[in-house]
Amino acid sequence: MRILNVHHKALNKLLRIQIPEPGQIIRPFTYLITAKVPEGLLVYQESLCDLVLLEGDECSLLKQDMLSGELSETQKYLLEHGFLVQDDQDDGDFCQNVREAARLVRFLTNKKGYPGFTILTTTSCNARCFYCFEKGLKNESMTEETADTVAKFILDEGNPDKVRLGWFGGEPTVNSKVIDRITKTLSDAGRKYTSSMISNGFLFDEELVKKASELWKLESIQITLDGTEETYNTRKAYVGVTESAFQRVIKNIGLLLDAGIRVSIRLNVDTENADDLCELSKQLERRFRGKENLNIYARSLFENDCMTSTLEERMKEDQRVEKHLEELGYQIRQALDIFPQTAHCMADSGSAPVIMPDGSLKSCEHINSSSDWGSVFDPKPRPEEETAFWNEKLPELEECKDCLAYPSCIRLKHCETETEVCSESVKQGKIKVLQQRLLYTWDVIKERKKQEESK
Ligand code: SF4
Ligand code: SF4
Repeated sequence: MRILNVHHKALNKLLRIQIPEPGQIIRPFTYLITAKVPEGLLVYQESLCDLVLLEGDECSLLKQDMLSGELSETQKYLLEHGFLVQDDQDDGDFCQNVREAARLVRFLTNKKGYPGFTILTTTSCNARCFYCFEKGLKNESMTEETADTVAKFILDEGNPDKVRLGWFGGEPTVNSKVIDRITKTLSDAGRKYTSSMISNGFLFDEELVKKASELWKLESIQITLDGTEETYNTRKAYVGVTESAFQRVIKNIGLLLDAGIRVSIRLNVDTENADDLCELSKQLERRFRGKENLNIYARSLFENDCMTSTLEERMKEDQRVEKHLEELGYQIRQALDIFPQTAHCMADSGSAPVIMPDGSLKSCEHINSSSDWGSVFDPKPRPEEETAFWNEKLPELEECKDCLAYPSCIRLKHCETETEVCSESVKQGKIKVLQQRLLYTWDVIKERKKQEESK
């Protein structure tokens, strides 16, 4: 057996995992994500985030059995790390206990200050997507004076070791001068930071990419594409643009990739554009073949007033595009979590306040569904009622406890992208993501080992 990840020591102290005595029946934990690889069987204990590779005969240890005689070292390890459990254990309750313990550990480690901030530089956008969830919102851009107060807020309230900044909008590059101002202040103060961005990518050029890499310390960017050239240009409907916006965005993706920034192209799927997105995927693969820092993935548009199809219909199309991307070699490039999932997002974790252009603070980046709870001009901790509101969960469904995605599935009652019911395609989609992440994690581990050996 090869041990690839071991859960956090503090969790062990809080959980006290019981080792069954001889004579008791043991069985595999319900939520094990597995994958056969040439070297053996990869097994991820999804609740604790422990990961092992079982080799040869060890693969047969993960079965229902009666404990008898002396335990082998491997058996003992699998029991101590929750891969094998006593038959009468309620695995759903186990997961909830792990989550509570993990929340406590996180709370204690986050005490130093906010580890991240989501900053809306503006609510304005240079595109007019028909599905925009911010439609109808008052256009407002952050002033330079507010940017200075935001920078001070980050210096005072952020984790002094390092903070992650997420630039969001509107289109964040429409008001990029405030990004310059905030990052320059942090840089001058000697604070460590990195950033990510959700953007349409249109306004970048050589100079801005250089600045993004050097001053903004932009590590990753998500750019949405809706289709091939004609479809994209029609759907995005950029304001006052006469050139092909598609060609410009594709060029900019190349510039960002060449600067070493990770680019995730999100293909927005609905029931009208799946075939076109498959064609676009082929074009992107030809254009950016071999770029390791590029990932392409598909997501169905979430529910809003302009949707005429159901989420289930869009999910089916989404899976069709995903399958096509897989065939082209674009699989999820995200390693598995090494610490249990304690929150769904910034809203329930409270660890990355959303800073609006006017300096007010919110919990959720979908600004229509969230009200202000504070301001950078008068910093105060997030009120308890705000935390309680975002911690309300949707009720568990009948099918949840048998679902392999259960330990990491957190559904917020007030998240506007969440639905009360779950469908087979949503469930299978989440399980598939975990399996792909397991295989990607294995690739990363092997690559790291190869590099260490060649030193
Ligand atoms: S994916 Fe669906 S069935 Fe699975 S745990 Fe989440 S809500 Fe429940
Ligand atoms: S609550 Fe939903 S919409 Fe808001 S930040 Fe979280 S995932 Fe996004």
